[in-house]
Amino acid sequence: MTAKLGPTLRIAIVGAGMGGLATALALARQGFEHIDVYEAAADLGFVGAGIQVAPNLSRELQRLGAWEYMETDAVEMHTVSIRGGTTDEELANQSLAYIRERYGQPHRVAHRSALANALYEACKAAAPRVAFHFRTAVTDVDFDRHRIRVRGRDEAEPGHWIDVDVVFGADGVKSVVRKCMLARQGEEDDAQDTGQAAYRIMLRRGQLAHDPELLALLESNSTSRWIGAGRQIIAYPISGNTILNIATTQPDVNFAAAPTATWTTRADKSAMLAVYADFCPRVARLLRLVPAGEVCEWKLRVHRPLRTWVEGCVALVGDACHPTLPHLGQGAAQAIEDGAVLAVVMGKLTDVKDILAGLLVYEHLRKTRAERLVEEAAISGRTLLHADPEAQAARDAAFRRVSTGGPNPDKWVDRTVTDYVYGFDCVKVAEEQVAGLM
Ligand SMILES: Cc1cc2nc3c(=O)[nH]c(=O)nc-3n(C[C@H](O)[C@H](O)[C@H](O)COP(=O)(O)OP(=O)(O)OC[C@H]3O[C@@H](n4cnc5c(N)ncnc54)[C@H](O)[C@@H]3O)c2cc1C
Repeated sequence: MTAKLGPTLRIAIVGAGMGGLATALALARQGFEHIDVYEAAADLGFVGAGIQVAPNLSRELQRLGAWEYMETDAVEMHTVSIRGGTTDEELANQSLAYIRERYGQPHRVAHRSALANALYEACKAAAPRVAFHFRTAVTDVDFDRHRIRVRGRDEAEPGHWIDVDVVFGADGVKSVVRKCMLARQGEEDDAQDTGQAAYRIMLRRGQLAHDPELLALLESNSTSRWIGAGRQIIAYPISGNTILNIATTQPDVNFAAAPTATWTTRADKSAMLAVYADFCPRVARLLRLVPAGEVCEWKLRVHRPLRTWVEGCVALVGDACHPTLPHLGQGAAQAIEDGAVLAVVMGKLTDVKDILAGLLVYEHLRKTRAERLVEEAAISGRTLLHADPEAQAARDAAFRRVSTGGPNPDKWVDRTVTDYVYGFDCVKVAEEQVAGLM
């Protein structure tokens, strides 16, 4: 495709996370030729975790030509099993066959680095349209003169200004671009503690081989979730069933006790074992296998919904404007949908003076959906983590009714939610609606 502004428009993307990479790739495929991606980290960053690749995500990856780079890593999920954390009693076991039938793609999971690398490789294949600038942090945005300030590794360095026509802030939950935008709008940046943290762990086949019950988790193409008061653990195989990915959620104790600027840290294994000490023997065996130096903890933060994602020639993408709890497995998917829709809109512009109008169309097409999914993830989290015994009993009874067609309290596999989330083709809808909105 050749966007009218493709040969001339100078596009700056802040952040080479899932949203930034997808935005760069989608714009390159629309015919934009001058896309610069500024990434503070030295490379694609710490990505030692699994990620849900729901139908709405795989559909976009296929459309963007990134899928072929990660196809062999992805594992198709056939079932999801919910169990009591302390008892190991199976409360529900739901087949995911309906997902492929209903949405045209199966539900898959993959290594986060496979997803990031796939987007990156596809961007490189679009070179020289996309140029990456690693170790380059954006520190300021000048909304009046259309420029960004960047600096290299030396934090004492004042940095220098770069003139641009449009800026996409895909710099994650701690977004500097959002901060600048809110300051400009006279509002406060308000990243909020959720009081929750997450351990992310990976176990390789060799570490599980001696324990048939644990090995079965790697070989079963099933997602298993154990739930207990205030805590939950999810496990699924990734990387062609060679790695078992485990992610937990529990009350944030460690970050709250010792606040740091970073929200991801190597964690103490004995502290992790203590948090899950009352969980069943299977979970205990799993957690004990983790090498002491390989426990990583993430602090989970969100931000109140923003009034707008746009200011002048600047728009926000992904976690910068809709950071989410992980309970719906849609954070990266929504960041990538943002990039895909943004490119559709940008591709229709014929004059730079229409950039603001175009960015507002992007916001119109994306904001309601992304914010609803943030809310659904929060609701799902509250349900899964109930501490009150009566609420737990009601939830568990609901899980037991899933086999007879009842709604699933774990919303990422509840049909009403999956119809809304997985059944939605964001690019098709954008293509249909964009002309009427410009
Ligand atoms: C525990 C946990 C589990 C999750 N599981 C899933 C899941 O299964 N499925 C799913 O879809 N999502 C999941 N998510 C959410 C998902 O990881 C995020 O929603 C997604 O990564 C957001 O992408 P992003 O590009 O907006 O931000 P990020 O991935 O955070 O990328 C932002 C990038 O910007 C860079 N950056 C920051 N500031 C600057 C600056 N000033 N200048 C230049 N560069 C900068 C950062 O270094 C980073 O590379 C999970 C999140 C957590 C915490």
